[in-house]
Amino acid sequence: MRLLPIHDTQARRILSPVSGFLSEAGFTHSLTPARNCTYGCSYCYVPTMRIQAGLKPDDWQHWGEYTTYKTNAPDLLKRELKPDQLIYCSPLTDPYQPAEMHQEMMPRILEQIYIHPPKLFVIQTRSPNILRDTKLLQTVAENTDLRISFSITTNDDRIRKIFEPRCESIPDRLRTIEELRAAGLNVYATVAPILPCEPPDLARLVVEATANPIIGDPLHIRQLKPRGATTRDAAFKILDHYGQPQWAEPGFQTQLLEVLDHEIRALGRDFATGPKGFSCLTQTPSSPAWASPAPAGPKPSPRSIRPTGKP
Ligand code: SF4
Repeated sequence: MRLLPIHDTQARRILSPVSGFLSEAGFTHSLTPARNCTYGCSYCYVPTMRIQAGLKPDDWQHWGEYTTYKTNAPDLLKRELKPDQLIYCSPLTDPYQPAEMHQEMMPRILEQIYIHPPKLFVIQTRSPNILRDTKLLQTVAENTDLRISFSITTNDDRIRKIFEPRCESIPDRLRTIEELRAAGLNVYATVAPILPCEPPDLARLVVEATANPIIGDPLHIRQLKPRGATTRDAAFKILDHYGQPQWAEPGFQTQLLEVLDHEIRALGRDFATGPKGFSCLTQTPSSPAWASPAPAGPKPSPRSIRPTGKP
């Protein structure tokens, strides 16, 4: 893939105290090594946050067309890291976006995490680029609770190509999870956002890929979330274009989550969405919030969960 422009900047701080969603999930801080993300996913909520995400107008007007690295991040970490922090990296960019292979920022960040270990360090990514740092991740995991939250958004790679064409394929991501787990690293599957999919196939795929509770979140829609970050219009236009607008309708989403929940629990795994879902990244799987039994009663009707359709 063509490498998009990479700019540099100096940040005043690198760890941000969290509020809202991440705070409810149990995190204390977030770490964002770059502004803007060249994966440029059609649904990415970050550009809709504008200045709340620390973006410049050019970032949200040209989302995904370049990225700006905070080159002093490792130096800032030396004085900002504390042992009681639970850090999420990152809510505003993929730390292993393609530019990372040129910037090599994450090894320098991980070095500081190793030297000044926080209580918990979570890496949120969808990128096989993380495999470059496997040995370093193993070393960091000796000193802190290191977890990798890996995004799997659909079971159907044709759908992935439409909504996130610059990202690696679903099979490549599954192979990456396998390699990370073979290296002894603690990996979670994050089905967020849930793109058009076959729920039983997606459930089987993420349960077989990992050993932890499954985290999910549907596409954010304004009817259910009047304020704050939301799905970019580009994703809604794609749904309309392919005659699948129901994936952004509240009733359909409720039923989708019920079906996915049923399928995942039937395979013996816990599933939750929103802050509760992401809270499994800050808790142990056996903590009370996650010790919920499989729901009783009949399987939810999948009558309106239509197949993904022809892309
Ligand atoms: S990888 Fe994440 S941060 Fe980057 S564009 Fe896609 S959704 Fe946004």
